[in-house]
Amino acid sequence: MLIENLHAIRSRIHAACKINNIDSEQIRLLAVSKTFGPERVREAFDAGLREFGENYVQEGVEKIAALSDLRSDITWHFIGPLQSNKTKDVAENFDWMHTVDREKIARRLSEQRPPHLKPLQICVQVNISGQDTKSGVSPHEALSLAQSILDLPGLTLRGLMAIPQPFPDLALQRREFQRLVTLFDQIRSSLPAPSQAVFNILSMGMSDDLEAAIAESDPEAITLLRVGSALFGQRTARST
Ligand SMILES: *Cc1c(COP(=O)(O)O)cnc(C)c1O
Repeated sequence: MLIENLHAIRSRIHAACKINNIDSEQIRLLAVSKTFGPERVREAFDAGLREFGENYVQEGVEKIAALSDLRSDITWHFIGPLQSNKTKDVAENFDWMHTVDREKIARRLSEQRPPHLKPLQICVQVNISGQDTKSGVSPHEALSLAQSILDLPGLTLRGLMAIPQPFPDLALQRREFQRLVTLFDQIRSSLPAPSQAVFNILSMGMSDDLEAAIAESDPEAITLLRVGSALFGQRTARST
């Protein structure tokens, strides 16, 4: 079933790239494995996937440990909300962190990143739709947060992440992503050249809006689609 789901996602990506005249090399798939056990991740790995996203610290750390034989071949992304007392687990176990939305979290992650590991790869999460309930820095504060991350030795600033307000309509979905891409370009152009070169990730698009994310892709960036249910199936309810 996972294989069929993966084929279906790849055809959706291919079709959206074609319609919008986008190079499919620019689109990458991050498999969101939250709530699914290590055996499902292994199945996805066997199907060729190498990037996995987790939302809950404890669950993620346990899964990474259970799959330690694959550790050097998998890139693990933390994509959930993070309390500052849990930063150490992320700093010690993950390769990427997508939901940095305040300086305190960034500073702790940098201090707690073990020196023998590569710097933690960071996306700043932006509250692009201005929803009260969503985490993320407001768009006008994103640049200064991004700049503060450049000074932290344990981190590498890689791009922006957003979870827009869900809309059923493609045009409205696109409008939200377009705002993120505009902000991305503004921030990118004000970074020093060496940081600009690696600030190339737009973490956007999920099962229900990946076509919109592809349509709004930036030629200067990789769009990292975070796909869960379309790949692994419906999750059983868990409060997020
Ligand atoms: C759960 C989750 C996803 C995946 O959502 P689907 O709709 O299942 O594809 C992507 N990004 C984040 C931040 C999530 O929490």
